[in-house]
Amino acid sequence: SVTNKYEAHHNPIGDLVEDSIRFVWRHGVAAAATREARGPLAVSASGVHVTDADGRVYLDGLSGGSAAATLGHGRVDVADAVHAQMTTLHWVSLRTFINEPSIELGRRIAGLTDAGLQTSFFVSSGSEAVESATQLAKSYHRAKGNPERTKFLYRKTGYHGTTLVGASASDNQEFRTWFAPLAPGFVELDACYPYRRPDGMTEEEYGDACADAIEATILAEGPETIAGILAESIPAALVLVPPANYLRRLREICDRYDILWIDDEVFIGVGRTGRWFGFEHFGVTPDIVTSSKGITGGYVPLGAAIATGRVMETIYGDGAATQAKVSGHTYAAHPTACAAGLAVLDAIEKEHLLESTARIGEGMIEAFRSRYAGHPNVGDVRGKGFLIGIELVEDAGTKAPFAKQLAVGRRVMDRAMEQNFMLRATGDVITLFPALVTTQQDADDMVAATCRAIDEVLGEL
Ligand code: PMP
Repeated sequence: SVTNKYEAHHNPIGDLVEDSIRFVWRHGVAAAATREARGPLAVSASGVHVTDADGRVYLDGLSGGSAAATLGHGRVDVADAVHAQMTTLHWVSLRTFINEPSIELGRRIAGLTDAGLQTSFFVSSGSEAVESATQLAKSYHRAKGNPERTKFLYRKTGYHGTTLVGASASDNQEFRTWFAPLAPGFVELDACYPYRRPDGMTEEEYGDACADAIEATILAEGPETIAGILAESIPAALVLVPPANYLRRLREICDRYDILWIDDEVFIGVGRTGRWFGFEHFGVTPDIVTSSKGITGGYVPLGAAIATGRVMETIYGDGAATQAKVSGHTYAAHPTACAAGLAVLDAIEKEHLLESTARIGEGMIEAFRSRYAGHPNVGDVRGKGFLIGIELVEDAGTKAPFAKQLAVGRRVMDRAMEQNFMLRATGDVITLFPALVTTQQDADDMVAATCRAIDEVLGEL
């Protein structure tokens, strides 16, 4: 078994950590930090639990760590679907053949909502989906005779991936520094961060003010130069659930200036918020939606840029437009990945996971709210479904943040891990994004484990 292979090493984990540093670049970790971040070495996983080489079992509040394992770990139904597809037609190039799993998955995605989403451009990751979405947007404008519309707006605190386009549209200073020069034509907007709105403003006034600021930037840049705006319906990293009017205003502004709203749903799409997509909570429809992670529950890599019929009519439209180009990847519309996606959609529907996610997630948010009501260091508890954020502050009265060097969030994350529980901290916002299959009992355990780590660290300050 896998475990025996590791046991055969004299110093199994130490050796493998050294090998890992030598042979495997650890994503998302600065080069110098790879040595400190010694493992742990995952060897197996089932449901919402991950087991490491020491036999420690972690309760997984993060769907595998980066939100992809939305059906939990070790699903035989998805594995069976993948096996069946691989032994029937594992892959052929979309350049040469069309394939049934991708057509079926595209059709299913189009039917998930009434947002007019129609055509899926299937790739292999979230970053590729984002980049493809920008290509689709450029194709749309070029097809309309506006090839000079090439700029994209993105927001502070936003994250859209690690390719050059993804990094250029993300507010990650490390990537921006290390990958420079960035792609041209990306313009930063302020985040819509309701908890940190100016004193005396209602959420709705703040939503309007944020939208007004977007419009002002568009006018300053020149609407005729702008192709699209990249904005998650609910920015996941800090769990910034926007005021209801904000996205409606964003939609109006995009329509006014013929700018496409690319709603990046890589993190939250396909069920995480208790709806198929986050935009459904706000009664608005984007022009292009990106998806990855949850689309296959992490079983096989897949991403998609999904365009509405309106956008595709323009792109497919007349003679000139049919020349429109979007990048063609070897693994575009990979049949096996799409078969995994179909199995995941089946499971979500059959097991009513949208309903349980909405219900159990809401219960977790309520549990944190009542637990921390009036707490001097818990400024805000927010979320939708299984996307939950708890913002820790030095003073809940003034919302003053903790000093950065205290690394409060980091300490909570490390403490939880020591206690065999996986949570995430982005700055001092503690985030949870459990799998859609999380039961009420799992949820109770996760709430208890989160509070334990938070309370211990706050108690030591
Ligand atoms: N967009 C969003 C909103 C994401 O959360 C992520 C990944 N965390 C990406 C894009 C990039 O996806 P990937 O890591 O698969 O390239």
